[in-house]
Amino acid sequence: APPPPRDVGAGTEPLPLPSPALRCLPTAPAAARPCSGAGGRAEADGRSGDGAMLRHLLRKLRATGPVTVAEYMREALTNPGQGYYTRGGGIGERGDFVTSPEISQIFGELIGIWFISEWMATGKPKAFQLVELGPGRGTLTDDILRVFKQLASLLSKCDVSIHLVEVSPKLSEIQAQMLTGGKVQSTPEDKSAYMKGVSKTGVPIFWYRDIQDVPAGFSFYLAHEFFDALPIHKFQKTEKGWREVLVDLDPEVPEGLRFVLSPSSTPATHHFIQPEETRDHVEVCPDAGVIIQRLACRIEEGGGAALVADYGHDGTKTDTFRGFQNHKLHDVLRAPGTADLTADVDFSYLRRMAQGRAGTLGPIKQREFLKNMGIDLRLQVLLQNSHDAAIREQLLHSYDMLMNPEKMGDCFNFFALLPHHRLTHPDKNQPESKSPLPPVAGFGELILK
Ligand code: SAH
Repeated sequence: APPPPRDVGAGTEPLPLPSPALRCLPTAPAAARPCSGAGGRAEADGRSGDGAMLRHLLRKLRATGPVTVAEYMREALTNPGQGYYTRGGGIGERGDFVTSPEISQIFGELIGIWFISEWMATGKPKAFQLVELGPGRGTLTDDILRVFKQLASLLSKCDVSIHLVEVSPKLSEIQAQMLTGGKVQSTPEDKSAYMKGVSKTGVPIFWYRDIQDVPAGFSFYLAHEFFDALPIHKFQKTEKGWREVLVDLDPEVPEGLRFVLSPSSTPATHHFIQPEETRDHVEVCPDAGVIIQRLACRIEEGGGAALVADYGHDGTKTDTFRGFQNHKLHDVLRAPGTADLTADVDFSYLRRMAQGRAGTLGPIKQREFLKNMGIDLRLQVLLQNSHDAAIREQLLHSYDMLMNPEKMGDCFNFFALLPHHRLTHPDKNQPESKSPLPPVAGFGELILK
């Protein structure tokens, strides 16, 4: 029999956090969370609801042995009955974590301008689809639709439609309420979209479970705090080579879970670790890779662009897997299904998975992107238009949350996929000065013409 797997620990010590919790932790580098020694144990606790998810996992582990961290994360987040997101997630001040669109309307407005700017730079095609992956409460799309309405004269001849990719029935209900006032039709007979409706501003909206169900054609894609919620595999370098981190029953704690290492290498260790890897702990999110591949193919074939915003790194960080509950760090193995689980996005992996089918820009820091998009001017206009001291205070506070390097300014990044012809002149011999390509807003100057 193989030797009993070794506990590799979870690093569960609480870290200082601003309140409400931002899911990036600028003050606590992820590498500071140890991957060896004590810790990593969890018992069922009070907030496990009726504990159905934990019981389901315990049964599964007893029957078939340890599971990968990816499988654990997928169950905890999107299990069709008891997953954290399936049951509604906890986005917002009263929940478990807050996101930029929930903090400030300016965030969504500037992203709306980014899409308009790319639409203009590509010669104002007659139609575009805006496809959002993991729309949460629908706030970001709502802010973008307000911008589209304000720029109605510019978009009057363009056929715009919204396509939301969302697995959570509960969140899709919340999105429908936010965007349409609840006027939606379920469409079980439709093989692709499971729901449709029309936005308060008159734009058709469709809901899907998978990006592959969204119709082909010129599209803008948006993924904000989406990739960090997808399941990761974790690997640990040992004296005997790479091993995968697994989740198993903890024999010492009733109904407890613990991390263990695979007793030998697994197909995943061979497949996912790069030969030149120098770190001793690596997280890989193959689901993110598959989705980036699909986006890059769709952009290559149908045109458009994708904008990804998330906290992450460029292939340098190690252990970033963490949980949030009530705006506090939460042991990832405790009461699965009741807390948000997340890991930093590895942008170097996303770039690699575009496989040259689309060009990439970034990652660039959120504060630089938003500055390039004109956040300072937008703030000034809103401040001038508001005479209520409390609103002005709120505007300044939310600006600080988004831009301050100690808050979201530095740890959130923007990354884009664009067709190659948008980034490099097809005729390399043509002097650039004759018809220079317009800069891509946010990553460069914003020019709307
Ligand atoms: N973009 C929003 C919400 C982020 S939370 C914001 O910034 O506020 C992550 C979102 O992704 C949720 O809407 C969740 O239900 C959704 N999600 C998680 N896994 C998914 C998957 N595999 N496919 C589609 N949506 C998913």
